[in-house]
Amino acid sequence: QFSYLYDDQISHFRAGGRVPLGLKNKRLRVLVTGGAGFVGSHLVDRLIARGDSVIVVDNFFTGRKENLVQHFTSHRLELIRHDVVEPILLEVDQIYHLACPASPTNVMGTLNMLGLAKRVGARFLLTSTSEVYGDPLEHPQTETYWGNVNPIGVRSCYDEGKRTAETLTMDYHRGLNLEVRIARIFNTYGPRMCTDDGRVVSNFVAQALRKEPLTVYGDGKQTRSFQYVSDLVEGLMRLMEGEHVGPFNLGNPGEFTMLELAKVVQDTIDPNAKIEFRPNTEDDPHKRKPDISRAKELLGWEPTVSLRDGLPRMVSDFRQRIFGDEKETVG
Ligand code: NAD
Ligand code: UDP
Ligand code: UDP
Repeated sequence: QFSYLYDDQISHFRAGGRVPLGLKNKRLRVLVTGGAGFVGSHLVDRLIARGDSVIVVDNFFTGRKENLVQHFTSHRLELIRHDVVEPILLEVDQIYHLACPASPTNVMGTLNMLGLAKRVGARFLLTSTSEVYGDPLEHPQTETYWGNVNPIGVRSCYDEGKRTAETLTMDYHRGLNLEVRIARIFNTYGPRMCTDDGRVVSNFVAQALRKEPLTVYGDGKQTRSFQYVSDLVEGLMRLMEGEHVGPFNLGNPGEFTMLELAKVVQDTIDPNAKIEFRPNTEDDPHKRKPDISRAKELLGWEPTVSLRDGLPRMVSDFRQRIFGDEKETVG
């Protein structure tokens, strides 16, 4: 169906060429693994709006078809139920690799998508994570910092999985001349986030809406920097289209303690929401804040949505899903 782009583009990539600027305005065939998830579905919205043809590969482990239902009538979206741990043959120009089981199989999925990118000469973007910095000894974190990860800790499967994924991506780049991009994503929130994934923003928002106490782990003085999902998607697309491999930190430098976050949630949803302290998890990073100078300079990117502006947009989505779902279960 889209073969009119295929031959010349692929031979161009095979010849080691870069995406010419003019291509930006042409239709691309883009694979988004994990495209039915939180970030992936917002990315798919933007790609389809731009006119691309999008293939989503997702096993619906944490993602939901509902996140893409707005495109089900569009011939631009193809949704494939598939586990990226198994090889798959597709013909595409770009691969955004978001699928990420929080398990060692993460590495296998990345290897397969790199193999696919190599076979068809597609440009490959890895969504890595700020967790590669572990419990950082440098603050804020720059991309040149190598991190402080406990290799045998409770969190290390995710952290080391992503570190290995970065290693594989760079080896395919250096050894096989594959065009790659690496994003290190900092904590991101927004509509379509899983309501029960245990992350702090989704927990606090769901708790406040359900009139339950906000569970603050530890003393609540640990910090995170929260990025609104549309800012992230803009950064990912600029990275993919740009000329730089990275890695690039993509995050909002606004830094909050968990107690400050709880306050913002109280102000936004329910000033009377109570706070309940719980023991913290092992190896919890004490602080995290991106230095985004590199992305500013080389991608011309920086976040535009503050936590106080972004949170209400997420709250209306959560309200609808939580109370909608509960009504459905009751009925
Ligand atoms: P998500 O769980 O909503 O999305 C992941 C998607 O991948 C889901 O749709 C899931 O069903 C799918 N998936 C998981 N394992 C799969 C497999 N083996 N085969 C096929 N599909 C599979 O998570 P998200 O927040 O949208 O994260 C997207 C990416 O961004 C991930 O790689 C994640 O590590 C990275 N990231 C996210 C954040 C954040 O704050 N949201 C921070 C850092 C990095
Ligand atoms: N792969 C895939 N789709 C493709 C090409 C490769 O899933 O279109 C998988 C392949 O099965 C292998 C992995 O990607 O498990 C790495 O492929 P590569 O060709 O780089 O390595 P090799 O097969 O030579 O070890
Ligand atoms: N956290 C919390 N209450 C919760 C969930 C998490 O206080 O209900 C804390 C957690 O201990 C951590 C921070 O919030 O210090 C961010 O946790 P999250 O799992 O959202 O992200 P990550 O630790 O992966 O950055």
